[in-house]
Amino acid sequence: MPDGATELPASLSLAGKVALVTGGSRGIGRACAEVLAARGAHVAVGYASREEAARAVCEAIAEAGGRAIPVAIDVSDPAAVQAGVDTCVRELGGLQILVNNAGISIDALLLRASLEDLRRTLAVNLEGAFACCKAAVRHILRAKTAGRIINVSSVVGEQGNVGQSMYAASKAGLIGLTKSLARELAPRGVTVNAVAPGFIETDMTAQAIAGDRRDALLGQIPLGRIGAPADVAEAVAFLAAPAAAYVTGHVLRVNGGLFI
Ligand code: NAP
Repeated sequence: MPDGATELPASLSLAGKVALVTGGSRGIGRACAEVLAARGAHVAVGYASREEAARAVCEAIAEAGGRAIPVAIDVSDPAAVQAGVDTCVRELGGLQILVNNAGISIDALLLRASLEDLRRTLAVNLEGAFACCKAAVRHILRAKTAGRIINVSSVVGEQGNVGQSMYAASKAGLIGLTKSLARELAPRGVTVNAVAPGFIETDMTAQAIAGDRRDALLGQIPLGRIGAPADVAEAVAFLAAPAAAYVTGHVLRVNGGLFI
């Protein structure tokens, strides 16, 4: 357990829990893995192709006194999802917290967008989360402790955005998935929530917030700054914690006021 985790109030501690974070090798997923580990969870850090990056996340967690393992999970491949979830359970001894963070954004105006791009977006962002929920839920229920599923949606899923119809559809779909599974799994003691980040500084948004665009964007954000991955990770860690036991089916906006 990381130094300091024992000093956490029990309501925020994740000691004794195992978490799987898909897309944990970079950006928001990396921050989620690090914060969950700092709260005491043992973490499986999922990645699609960047194994070295996932290993570096695990090393950083170990240096901070936590425990994490890299796990190859291309969420668009159901067989890889099953294998990755099984590895997590075998290596870390169970699974109580699933963070469906892996995602891609293929941006194009409708006239330039293709069905192929839409299908790829849905395959990763929506079907991927569905497949992970399906593969993980048996283990989560077997744990017989309060389970948690947290889906990383987006402000765009609620608000829409020019040039992001495919991405928005996938992220709105995640909200429907979240609310339905919240109802379905509540009787089994599992909460299912979503976070909806605004603009967060990661590889995904590097182009969108470069140069002049940054100032234009800042003008739309009441809190006056672009978000950091840790802003989202803190919200995820709250939803994973005992403190959030009575919160389910919720979409927690982490957007600096961009959409209220
Ligand atoms: P990012 O920096 O581009 O990182 C994407 C992560 O997803 C990487 O870890 C990547 O793994 C993984 N990934 C991509 N395709 C995958 C696949 N098929 N299977 C498994 N993993 C896959 O993105 P980010 O900004 O941190 O975004 C993380 C999540 O937050 C996404 O769902 C995104 O839609 C959502 N979000 C982001 C923002 C934002 O402003 N950044 C706002 C709202 C919502 P590899 O490293 O192995 O490629």
